[in-house]
Amino acid sequence: MQERNRTFSPGESELFWCQNCSLPLLSEKCSICNSSGQKIPLSPPGDVRLCFAKGRERLSDLFVQKYGCADFLDGKVILLNKIAGIDRRDQVILDGRHIATLWFDITSSSFNLDLESAGAVLLAKRAIRGFAKCQETMLKGHIKGKWLSPEYIESQPEGISEGDNIVLKIGKYAGVGVVRRRGD
Ligand SMILES: [Zn+2]
Repeated sequence: MQERNRTFSPGESELFWCQNCSLPLLSEKCSICNSSGQKIPLSPPGDVRLCFAKGRERLSDLFVQKYGCADFLDGKVILLNKIAGIDRRDQVILDGRHIATLWFDITSSSFNLDLESAGAVLLAKRAIRGFAKCQETMLKGHIKGKWLSPEYIESQPEGISEGDNIVLKIGKYAGVGVVRRRGD
């Protein structure tokens, strides 16, 4: 283990997560159980706040609308980390993991969710819509950022549109797929 860096650099904020206590920590060591927390990946500048009732309701509605479930949010600490930029965008952090990004879509004047891998893992066993089952053979190659050939898709949701984030179930693995239309 490396000696802890004691210098303070303004503008850099760090947050840790205690798996034992399910609590966010301002320093690596948990003062309740004394274990070391895991660093939460935060986009700069690191402007984190607790997600309260209204935000929770918004997230719950979006997860239900897109994936048919949101029970995994119940009773959990949810943190929102504002991402620098002109539009309103927050990293949604559940149990210390970045599960999705919440953003406000000005064209439709409504909130939307971009799913992250950790969110897809959470949803893989729970989602009742918004998921596609894929053949495990597709895992043989590098698939990140690639066009997914239709022959690998065993089943897919109906009524999907450009830009939708769907959960890809690939055997025991899960990932995020973005709906794209090709020419036709
Ligand atoms: Zn602890």
